[in-house]
Amino acid sequence: MQRLTVLGSTGSIGKSTLDVVARHLDKYQIIALTAQQQDELLFEQCQRFQPRYAVLLDEAASERLSKRIVAAGLETEVLCGSAALERVSTLPEVDAVMAAIVGAAGMPPTLAAAQAGKKILLANKETLVLAGHLFMDAVQRSGSVLLPIDSEHNAIFQALPRGYAGNMQASGVSKILLTASGGPFRNTPLEQLQQVTPEQACAHPNWSMGRKISVDSASMMNKGLEVIEAHWLFNAPADSIQVVVHPQSVIHSMVQYVDGSVLAQLGNPDMRTPIAYALAYPERIESGVAPLDLFQIAKLDFVAPDFERFPCLTLAYQALRAGGTTPALMNAANEVAVAAFLDRQIAFLDIPRLIEAVLGKVARTEVHVLQDVLDADAAARAAAQEWIAQ
Ligand code: NAD
Ligand code: MG
Repeated sequence: MQRLTVLGSTGSIGKSTLDVVARHLDKYQIIALTAQQQDELLFEQCQRFQPRYAVLLDEAASERLSKRIVAAGLETEVLCGSAALERVSTLPEVDAVMAAIVGAAGMPPTLAAAQAGKKILLANKETLVLAGHLFMDAVQRSGSVLLPIDSEHNAIFQALPRGYAGNMQASGVSKILLTASGGPFRNTPLEQLQQVTPEQACAHPNWSMGRKISVDSASMMNKGLEVIEAHWLFNAPADSIQVVVHPQSVIHSMVQYVDGSVLAQLGNPDMRTPIAYALAYPERIESGVAPLDLFQIAKLDFVAPDFERFPCLTLAYQALRAGGTTPALMNAANEVAVAAFLDRQIAFLDIPRLIEAVLGKVARTEVHVLQDVLDADAAARAAAQEWIAQ
């Protein structure tokens, strides 16, 4: 029996995780579920999975949940606040943590799980963008097993040699080919991009995801964050990570070897595949995903990324090369920009403008301890809010 905490259980990845778990209740037991404020859905999940703990960030929501839990005669203990997220990520009775909170808020409990030596199923890419060095250090020191959930990184993990220890050269790896769908605006005339709406940005052609990552996919900042994620996960220099636009999202990424071999992982675009892979690793379990029908897909296309159309991709490569707190500054500015775009306060093309303005304003520092990252995150958010208010 593997005992799990699911951080962000009411989100897109959280729900897919519980869908896979529900197919294998003989193998997985839920110890804790967490959400920001969706008490109704969290209550339904508590009824279904009977966790020992349920955590909500929002106080009013946690009071509502407590009442319903008592009325239903459930034994789940309801906790509130961000310290509780770290608590349920480090409990001795927890074997594995699914890190599926969105944004920088997901970093502290994910880092805590790494420090506690838990097996980590990592969906929250922001943890690596903010604190890649600190997080990978914690994983190594505690002996955590780290399994990527992001479909591209999960594909790369599967295509690398088993036991890959972070040395590309020793493993004969020449390049990581990170595929990208190109999002909903791949072919939108450039002059129309200024007017696109949150609804259009969130209508991803292949994947159904949370709103923040959907906007990131439309701006290709998601791919930029994933370049940084790949750098930390696989110890790959920026120059060895090539983004390949592949509109069908059937190949989830590839690894190129020095002998000319390219290994790819293919599948229908459904996050239950990487989730099931990580849950059962090194075994395989059924995920509920339909088998791939290659005859129906018929063809696979590949094109080079358009850096002019997607300045966020350039910004992310630059941030990775700059190092220090720059990726954290970029990430924070992007989170504020995406929230403002979803709130119709700024236009789609303002997202990279705002990020550039923040990077020009807040000075980069080195990262020695977690506080350096938290300070950078706060400073970038303040500068971004100021830019919006002007
Ligand atoms: P989502 O918005 O659907 O869900 C986010 C979850 O986090 C919810 O349960 C929400 O209650 C919780 N949450 C939000 N803000 C919080 C806060 N401040 N504190 C605590 N909890 C909070 O997001 P998602 O699409 O499931 O994405 C989750 C993570 O997985 C992101 O980091 C994303 O980049 C990554 N990811 C998602 C997909 C996907 O297909 N959705 C694919 C790859 C990677
Ligand atoms: Mg991805």
